[in-house]
Amino acid sequence: MSRHTELLTDSTLARLRDAAQRAAGHSYSPYSRFPVGAAVLGANGKVYSGCNVENASFGLTQCAERAALTAAIADGAAAGSLQALLIYTPGNTAHPPCGACRQVMRELMAAAGTVASCCDTTELKCWSHAEHLPDPFLPEDLPEAARAPKADKS
Ligand SMILES: [Zn+2]
Repeated sequence: MSRHTELLTDSTLARLRDAAQRAAGHSYSPYSRFPVGAAVLGANGKVYSGCNVENASFGLTQCAERAALTAAIADGAAAGSLQALLIYTPGNTAHPPCGACRQVMRELMAAAGTVASCCDTTELKCWSHAEHLPDPFLPEDLPEAARAPKADKS
């Protein structure tokens, strides 16, 4: 187990995998035929999931990772509080998240959070934010007047 999997105990990993796999089963991916599910662990221990939802316009396709993060925020999770995100794709390869999702993960997840990916084998890939998005664009990069007020949620 790598240092990035410290948050992912066997029971947490099993909960996230179950949720991500279930979400992948609901994927709307008639164009790519590449279903993806993702599950996020909140600071409160809750698990939020999402799947990819494609669109005939292609550009409006929503990734599973961002769908899961959106579900967490919609439930009241504070930006920066999400601890771990697990991606599941059916098949024999654990795929990394796309660049757009990495940017959103970095802003919404805890700075020390873990991102992982699994598939139908025992393969488990794990990344820190620094590994998969070095030098991210963060809220601190915006002029102070343009920054969102600090959330008062836990
Ligand atoms: Zn993505």
